[in-house]
Amino acid sequence: VDDGGAGPVKRRLGVMGGTFDPVHHGHLVAASEVASLFHLDEVVFVPTGQPWQKEHQQVSPAEDRYLMTVIATASNPQFSVSRTDIDRGGRTYTLDTLRDLRDQYGDVDLFFITGADALSQIFSWRDAEELFSMAHFIGVTRPGHTLSDPGIPDGGVSLVEIPALAISSSDCRHRVARGEPVWYLVPDGVVRYINKRKLYRDAG
Ligand code: ATP
Ligand code: MG
Repeated sequence: VDDGGAGPVKRRLGVMGGTFDPVHHGHLVAASEVASLFHLDEVVFVPTGQPWQKEHQQVSPAEDRYLMTVIATASNPQFSVSRTDIDRGGRTYTLDTLRDLRDQYGDVDLFFITGADALSQIFSWRDAEELFSMAHFIGVTRPGHTLSDPGIPDGGVSLVEIPALAISSSDCRHRVARGEPVWYLVPDGVVRYINKRKLYRDAG
C-alpha cells in the first residue's frame, strides 16, 4: 500500500489475546469495534497457551479453545487465528506473542487488544518498555468493569469501552454447567461445538 508520496503505509494488525474458553460475542464485538476505531486491516485472535493468570483454575484443552475461535471468526474476512501461543507451549508472555507475530507478518504496526484487567497484569510483570516499543496497547472494558488497577503506565495505552455486552467466558461456562442456554452469547457454531465436545458440564 502507498499513500502517494509520504512513503509506504504499514499494514495495521490487531492482536486479540485471550483464553477464549469459550470465545463469545463480547470478544468479537471488541475486536470489531477496535478494528473500526483504529482502522485496522486485520485482527488476529491469539488463544493463550497455558494461561499463567489462570493457573489456579481449570482451562479447557488448547485445541478446543483454538477450534472454537476458528469457528467464531471464520466468516469474517478481517479476522484470523494464530496458533503461536498454543504451539510455543508453556506460559504465555505477551512479548513472545508480539515477537512471533512480527516475524510472521513482517513490518506491520501492531495493536495489542485485550481486557483492561489483563493489561494491568501484563505490565505489572516486566518488559513494559520493550512491550511499548513493539505495539500500541488497547485496553477494552465491558460495562461495570473500570480500570481500577494503577499498574498500567501512562501513554501508549488506549482505553475503549465496548458497548452493552456484559458477557464473560466464566458466565458462559457456569451457564452450561447449570444447563442454561448460551445461545446468542456465543456464536451458534460454538454452542454446537461445546455440546459436541461436552465442555463445561462440570464447571459450575
Ligand atoms: P473469564 O470470564 O474466564 O475471565 P473472559 O470473558 O474475560 O473470560 P478472556 O478470554 O479472558 O475472556 O478474554 C480476553 C480479553 O477480552 C480479556 O482481557 C477480557 O477482559 C476481554 N473481554 C472479555 N469479555 C469482554 C466483553 N464482553 N467486552 C469487552 N472485553 C471483554
Ligand atoms: Mg476475564
